[in-house]
Amino acid sequence: MSELLLYNTYTRQKEIFESITPNHVGLYVCGPTVSGESHLGHARPYITFDVVNRYLQHLGYKVRYVRNITDAGHFEEEGREAEDKIAGKALLEKLEPMELVHKYTDLFHWGMRLFNCLPPSIEPTATGHVIEQISMIEDIMAKGYAYEVNGSVYFDVKKYASQYPYGTLSGRKIEDMLETTRELDGQDEKINKVDFALWKNAPPEHIMRWKSPWGEGFPGWHIECSAMSSKYLGDTFDIHGGGMDLQFPHHESEIAQSTIAHGHGPARYWMHNNMITINGKKMGKSYNNVIKLTELFSGNHPILEQAYHPMVVRFNILQTHYRSTLDFSNDALQGSEKALRRLWEAYEVLQKLTIPTNTEAKDEVLDQQVHSFCTECADFMNDDFNTAKVIASLFELAPTINSIRSGQIAANALSASTFTLLKSTFKTYLEDILGLQALQVEQSNKLDKVLSVLIDIRKDAKLRKDFATSDQIRNRLAESGVLLKDEKDGTVSYTIE
Ligand code: ZN
Repeated sequence: MSELLLYNTYTRQKEIFESITPNHVGLYVCGPTVSGESHLGHARPYITFDVVNRYLQHLGYKVRYVRNITDAGHFEEEGREAEDKIAGKALLEKLEPMELVHKYTDLFHWGMRLFNCLPPSIEPTATGHVIEQISMIEDIMAKGYAYEVNGSVYFDVKKYASQYPYGTLSGRKIEDMLETTRELDGQDEKINKVDFALWKNAPPEHIMRWKSPWGEGFPGWHIECSAMSSKYLGDTFDIHGGGMDLQFPHHESEIAQSTIAHGHGPARYWMHNNMITINGKKMGKSYNNVIKLTELFSGNHPILEQAYHPMVVRFNILQTHYRSTLDFSNDALQGSEKALRRLWEAYEVLQKLTIPTNTEAKDEVLDQQVHSFCTECADFMNDDFNTAKVIASLFELAPTINSIRSGQIAANALSASTFTLLKSTFKTYLEDILGLQALQVEQSNKLDKVLSVLIDIRKDAKLRKDFATSDQIRNRLAESGVLLKDEKDGTVSYTIE
């Protein structure tokens, strides 16, 4: 098995991957909050980590991929008033909170399937792990790093920061944080504004609530991930992933909680994908540019000029390295659509080409070129999962494939082994690792067009009383599994068996 060289995004040092159990990788990715429909912001992290999961599996690692569902309702940001988003939305939609959670979880899964993201090995829910969260909070309290006020429990960040490094992921300094937040809120029941809730007392109107040693309440957001990741992946696991917006406060808080509970941070490597901007603007409600996945796939949003196939969106995301910002625009997506189609056509051509039998290449220079474009795909993936460069390499190979088909380049220009490598590289990288698929919608559109041409010819034949031709079209199509049906209104519909 090849060694995976992973650039540590924390220290940026090239290190060789080490696991407790050889050949096993624990991967934890913060899952969605299912208080609403999944949107474009969800697409990038889950597609990014789907490729990480696929690549690790390709290398022969057994991956335990845990991606949670945040369904308990939580605070959205630091300093924001405690609000249960799920309960609020449930009241609005007149649904039982768990009914709402199910509805949006299903929609999220639907989106992930269309993006061809492999399902995680375990998908734990926060509401299913309240006991684990309570016991972790008790542990942190017993060690003296959390305190209770009015039925809520807070993590003592100031005390923690006096003994452990704090803010290393996000580059924040506790001194600055204490300085800027000191005078903001005198009413706060927390000792310091920087402290975060581990458990929150539930006011009477709060629907989602659980019994705890501190009265009825609900867990804080950060403790959910710490409890679930350590339950399924152990105290130390290999990769913790998520969007860059989760570095602070979410992941800094996870590190602090784990450090007190287990004596060290949870993950060996942190990977954060950068954010998506839309036409150069940050995505947000105030810009009215949050595009839901249902809108993206249907084109039903003022920003969108057309519907975009999930594979086009996936391809567009993978054309940029995950640590760079990605600007989302109609132009960029339409460009990606054309590019993906070109690349896929080359792949389909390649699949039909026959591997030559010659062991020696007739064109050694070309053979060498093709060989190195193929082998560097692995180098690029090993260099911090650089999917953008992998795609660029595959593009470099497309003209050669097309020239072999047209006969401009003889098939024996390449040796049999290089030709075989070329075939396997396209299959492995396009399908298995990048997780791309043919644009099926486009194919079925084409099929629609072809069938309507045949239906028109048959109609003309009937008008001319050329029943032999019209019957032949109907029968031949039926043999191929396409059944035509003459409707009462004179139109013709079809079903495909
Ligand atoms: Zn998380």
